[in-house]
Amino acid sequence: MMFEEMAELQKELCKNARGKDNRAEIAEEIADVHIMLDQMEILHNCKELSR
Ligand SMILES: [Mg+2]
Repeated sequence: MMFEEMAELQKELCKNARGKDNRAEIAEEIADVHIMLDQMEILHNCKELSR
């Protein structure tokens, strides 16, 4: 799931680099990755180490 969300963000960033106006899509994918990062901190019990 984490890799999937990062790939979705990467895809939108690549589209943007090719000239697409996709700020909203990038913001949505960043939010998704934020959620996944929060879950990764819980899963790996490392919240205090990643701040
Ligand atoms: Mg996503």
